[in-house]
Parts: sequence; structure tokens; C-alpha cells
Amino acid sequence: MLPTRGYAAKTRAAKLEPFNFERRQPGPHDVLIKIAYCGVCHSDIHQVNNDWGIATYPMVPGHEIVGKVVQVGADVKKFKVGDVAGVGCFVDSCRTCANCKESEEQLCDKGPSFTYASTEQDGKTPTFGGYSSQIVVDENYALKVSPKLNLANVAPLLCAGITTYSPLRQHKVGKGQRVGIIGLGGLGHMGVKLAASMGADVTVFSTSKSKEQDALRLGAHHFVVTKDPKNLEALANQFDFILDTVAAPHDPNMYLNLIRRDGVMVIVGVPDKPLEVQPFSLIFKRRRLAGSLIGGIRETQEMLDYCAEKNITADVEVIPIQKIQEAFERTIKSDVRYRFVIDMNTL
Ligand code: NAP
Ligand code: ZN
Ligand code: ZN
Repeated sequence: MLPTRGYAAKTRAAKLEPFNFERRQPGPHDVLIKIAYCGVCHSDIHQVNNDWGIATYPMVPGHEIVGKVVQVGADVKKFKVGDVAGVGCFVDSCRTCANCKESEEQLCDKGPSFTYASTEQDGKTPTFGGYSSQIVVDENYALKVSPKLNLANVAPLLCAGITTYSPLRQHKVGKGQRVGIIGLGGLGHMGVKLAASMGADVTVFSTSKSKEQDALRLGAHHFVVTKDPKNLEALANQFDFILDTVAAPHDPNMYLNLIRRDGVMVIVGVPDKPLEVQPFSLIFKRRRLAGSLIGGIRETQEMLDYCAEKNITADVEVIPIQKIQEAFERTIKSDVRYRFVIDMNTL
């Protein structure tokens, strides 16, 4: 076994503290990655606090992982020692169900092995995430990362990037379409960059007036402060596609009403309480409401290659691991510009 250092929450809502654990020796199909950076996703905070009722402890969070491959198993084809690799929200899946076969592993019928607070496919070995020194993962569940981009800024693509890229692609967002992004946080700011790069006319819906200049700099064309409902009324029935990235309870109806006939709102944010949808918000204008979960390995690789080609990465604040609690608190207050990323050398 490989002794590994990390930071863990030992119990629900506990402060993260140093935690030593073991990873498996790399098997024939595994790569060992020395973690350079790991992004701080709001899901990490939900999970530490058990907002969704599915947490397990001790929990080493982190699923926006990038680093260097330092060892490869005998049968590994995709990587060699020295390559830059990424790991996102899952590290394995059944590989035999229809979803796995179509590279939608995140939707595996048996349930994927999530990167942390989950189990390996044996159903019992716990998984530990990227707030740690190293990770062992099957090469088929690791991503190739261009060494051309700044690694700290690439890390958030592994969750925030793919979670916004996938629904934009699924719903064929492109030139001439009006797109709304609700919430300018980690996911939201990637949604803005990606939607703008695809040619859409992008509006940010935000509770934070102070983020207006940033939104425009990130590529948005319009910025709407949502605290005053009047700002939204004037925009009724205009949007082709709206992405809801909000992490806290909120009213989805005020945004649904902005969608034109047959348009769609995709929910990716997962607040700790259910959202209340008024049937009328959907019935009038025949609107659609959908969800989306990260993305599969094939699409994640496609997104990474797309971002490398277009020079798209996240805006980050790099922190030492010792500042993780402060980063959690600032993220909860919507005070993140726009993703905290842990420099794992500080571990
Ligand atoms: P984040 O960085 O905290 O961003 C969320 C943003 O939502 C905030 O910055 C804020 O933006 C806005 N917001 C916060 N409270 C609000 C409220 N009460 N009403 C309206 N807007 C509010 O979080 P994140 O990392 O982007 O994650 C967002 C959500 O997506 C989380 O629930 C996370 O668990 C979930 N998630 C889902 C997937 C998936 O696959 N579906 C993947 C990753 C994360 P403004 O200041 O602009 O208002
Ligand atoms: Zn995430
Ligand atoms: Zn499967």
C-alpha cells in the first residue's frame, strides 16, 4: 500500500484536518498521479456538511485534480511517466451497462465510484479525493491534460468545466442564441466563458452587483442583478437556454418565465432543499426543465481539448491547504473569484 497524506473531515461539518491513509499499489492498468492542484467545488462543502444525506466519513474531498504521472502499470497505454493527467468526479464504473458503453460513465446504472465519499466497484473499499498528495486511478478514468495551460487554472475544468460544457453541448447552444447563466461562482463563470466561446449571447443573473465588471470581462454580454424582480420582468420569454448553477435554495420560476417557446432550463446546482416549480412556468410557452450531471470520460476529454485549443481556463485564487476552512466560508458567502484551488505542495 502507498502511504498518502491528505486533509479530511472526520465527522459531519467538522473542520478539515491532516489525515494519513493508504492508496492501493498501482495495478497493471493504473496510473499513480502526484497531485499538483485540486479545485474546491461547492459540492465538497455540501458533502462535508452532509447537505445531501449521502456523506461518509472520514472524508477527503476534492474532485478537480491535476498532477504529474509518476508511475504507470505494465499494461497502461494512454499515459507515460511525466505526462500531465487529470481526475474528475468519478474513478470507476461498471463498464458493462449501456451508459458506460456509451461513455456516459457518470450515469452508470450500477452507480459510478465517485472520487470521494463513495466506494470502489467492489462496493466496500472507500474512495478518498484530491485534497491529498497522490491518487491511483485506472488509466481509463484519467484524462489527458495539455501541459501548455497553467495547471492551477486547469484543475477546475475537471468538474466546473465539464458540468457546464456538457449541457451546453447537449442542448446545442451556439451562435444567435440567448443564454442565461444563474450564479457567477465556480460553475457559473465557466458557463459564461464556454457559452460565449460557442457564440451565444450571454446574460449573467447574479445576486452580487459587485460581480458585474468581472462578468463582462469573462465574456458575458449582459448582467442582471436578481435581487430586484423588476429587472427580470422586462426579460420575459426571451431566452433559448438557461443554466441554473445556484448552490442555495431559490425560486426557479422567476427564471423559467424568461424562457421562450420550447426553450430549456437545465439545473446543475444542488441546493440542500428541493426547488418548487410552478406547473404554469412550464406549461405556458411549452418550456422544458432538465438536469445534467458532470459528463462522461469521452466528453470530458473533448472539453479539455476544446479548452486547450481556445485557451479557456478557470479564474482561480490559489490557496495553501491550511486555508481550506476560510475558502469554504468565502465560497458559502458567494465571495469566490471564481474558484479556490489548493496548491498541494503546501500539504
Ligand atoms: P459556487 O462557486 O458557490 O457558486 C454558486 C453561485 O450561486 C454563487 O457564487 C452565487 O453567485 C450564487 N448564489 C449563491 N447563493 C444564492 C442564492 N441564495 N440565490 C441565488 N444565487 C445564489 O458553487 P459551484 O461550485 O459553482 O457549485 C454550484 C452548485 O452546483 C452546487 O450546488 C454544487 O454542488 C453543484 N454542482 C453540480 C454538479 C453537477 O454535476 N450537476 C457539478 C458540480 C457542482 P452570485 O453571487 O452571482 O449570485
Ligand atoms: Zn464538483
Ligand atoms: Zn455502468
